[in-house]
Amino acid sequence: MINPFFFINRTVESHLDHGDEDQVDRLEQQAEHGTVLVCQDDGWFRSESPSVVVERSNSKRTQTLATPGQVPAGVVWHWTATNRGTMAGCVRRIQEPARVLKDGTKERESSFHFGLPATGPLYQAASVRRGTWHAGGPTAKRFILTRTGPQLAPSGVSANALMIGVELECVGEVRLIAAAGKPAAWMGWPFGKDGVTGPIVPENQVAREGSRHFHKMTDHEISLATYLVIALVERDGNLDRRALSWTHAMIDPGRKTDPGPIWTNYELPAILDAAGM
Ligand SMILES: [Zn+2]
Repeated sequence: MINPFFFINRTVESHLDHGDEDQVDRLEQQAEHGTVLVCQDDGWFRSESPSVVVERSNSKRTQTLATPGQVPAGVVWHWTATNRGTMAGCVRRIQEPARVLKDGTKERESSFHFGLPATGPLYQAASVRRGTWHAGGPTAKRFILTRTGPQLAPSGVSANALMIGVELECVGEVRLIAAAGKPAAWMGWPFGKDGVTGPIVPENQVAREGSRHFHKMTDHEISLATYLVIALVERDGNLDRRALSWTHAMIDPGRKTDPGPIWTNYELPAILDAAGM
């Protein structure tokens, strides 16, 4: 695993790096850590390191990628908004047929390519040569593919037809809630509303942004995300920093806030720096 302090030094150093130095950075990064993940010809990942296990599960919820050569044109980051230890369950659920909900309607089927747990394997549920169903809700913005990557365009196609989806396991936004007779605790959605308790997060896993608070991703998730980005960039060479930085909140801002400002404003930029992007 990458020493997390590596990222901190790296981020400070890399602020002014641009242009020719990017390639050098990437090569340095590889030399320092060796190759951890490889994206194979068929779009399935393989681990070259004993420190990372790739666990494959084939979701049927996929679609054609409308890109040249079925090469993904970008990455959309999500959070699961579930407790730690739930990633395996999320992966299992997208293998199964849609459930019928209590009101008799069918669950909205969704899927994703990669699941990054707080600890444990990197889950891959679809080849990156296929699209999955992670950012195509009825209110989601649409895209066209230009020479410089995906661009927002009302007349375009779903993000699912161009970009892959990566889920980060975390509770999401948390609030300090004092239930009757109990000490206050950091709680996820629905924040104790109508007596419904959300997942509880230890104080040392909470990060503040402005007046709001969020469950932090683990160092393990940050490492997996870094290896994943490096493997994707090494494979096809078409992804720039912008293409690697889409979030569900950017695509469906009326309905979605994931993966939250800590990831979007701090952790992802540091990962892209560390990956030499
Ligand atoms: Zn999402």
